[in-house]
Amino acid sequence: MSTRLRVILALVVLSPLMHAQTPPKPAPQMTPKSLTPTQVHQSAIVIDTHADTPQRFVDENFDLADPLGNGNINLDSIHKGNLGAEFFSIWVDPVQNKGRFAGRTFDLIDAVKQQVAKHPDQIKFVTSPEGIELAHREHKLAALMGIEGGHSIEDSIPLLRQYYALGVRYMTLTWSNSTSWADSSGDIDDKSVPHNKEGLTEFGKDVVYEMNRLGMMVDISHVSDHTFYRTLVITRAPVIASHSDARALCDAPRNMTDDMLRAVANSGGPNSKGGVIDVNYYSAFVSQAYRDADKAQQPEVDKAVADLKAKYKADGKEAPQTEIDKLKRTFADRIPRPPLSMLIDHIDHIAKVAGIDHVGLGSDFDGVDGQLPEGLDSPADLPKITAALMARGYSAEDCRKILGGNLLRVFREVEAVSKELQAENRPRITDKQPFDKPQK
Ligand SMILES: [Zn+2]
Repeated sequence: MSTRLRVILALVVLSPLMHAQTPPKPAPQMTPKSLTPTQVHQSAIVIDTHADTPQRFVDENFDLADPLGNGNINLDSIHKGNLGAEFFSIWVDPVQNKGRFAGRTFDLIDAVKQQVAKHPDQIKFVTSPEGIELAHREHKLAALMGIEGGHSIEDSIPLLRQYYALGVRYMTLTWSNSTSWADSSGDIDDKSVPHNKEGLTEFGKDVVYEMNRLGMMVDISHVSDHTFYRTLVITRAPVIASHSDARALCDAPRNMTDDMLRAVANSGGPNSKGGVIDVNYYSAFVSQAYRDADKAQQPEVDKAVADLKAKYKADGKEAPQTEIDKLKRTFADRIPRPPLSMLIDHIDHIAKVAGIDHVGLGSDFDGVDGQLPEGLDSPADLPKITAALMARGYSAEDCRKILGGNLLRVFREVEAVSKELQAENRPRITDKQPFDKPQK
């Protein structure tokens, strides 16, 4: 064998080994630079984690095939904006429905299912990440449900389990009202409302555990800071903020501090990939200037609403909610809408502070009286978000994560944790709570 041949042979034998020792080159950019924002948006599974449309179904007899009217969501806009999945919010007004929280919860759940039944060719009712993907392949909207406000369970774990059985896949521990077991940011400064020292009572901890065990995502939007941190200490699965923004950019108690954003990103067990914060489009959470102007005119709004109610009362009637909303909207329309770029600032901020894997979309459509950034009126406008993100240098892959990929990852992990917990065979939590038992 000639020396030359020996060298060549040695190289051939060694080359895979040599290769293994050289550090891998960064993976080539998988998406060609030429991909347009429209192509990126169309290729994504777009998921929105919060829309208050079910109240329109029940109270206004609204059908998703109808024109938008005063609202934000209908089938036409869903198709135009390639919205793949909507978590319809099951929100029960705690004042108007005193004494029948569960009854109203069932009405709203039923209304979502009625919409699916009416439009089987366009909507698919699903309860899992695989269901979202299947609906996407069938070019249908995946309809899901999240309960907004723990008062819906009426302090009953069996009721919580029944909501899960009906298909509810997340629950916001509180709305703006504290429950007997969890505190809300909405009334935390109200001395007349009883609050608990730890943010979550023993029963509240059982609720979180049972949600983890069932595979229902724990949503920390709306809760007090104290309740937030207590929940994060005990949850076994990553959490979501279904519709919250960054407090560093707009100082609303419902928005999240940078520390909280990082905590959501680190939520779940030791092997968790962390939770997701889905940005809320509500102008008074997005823009400080809007928030200040809104606050400044609040006394005037309150007086106008009181006058309207008095006018109806004089005729022995109750002012209809639609009239009150219309009146409020005339005031809201006086304040200039924030530019869309301010909403993108929130996404950008959360992506920088918590990480690109921890931000998503939670519109609050149909829940904010049209107080939305300029040009963002329905799902048909969602491609503008993708275009704005790409203009800021976000890659196609990053955009797909924000548009829905991150939520899908968290949803999958919540299901995996649920399977683990169910395999642990810990005794089922019953209505009899540990703290009820006599201490030995
Ligand atoms: Zn809300």
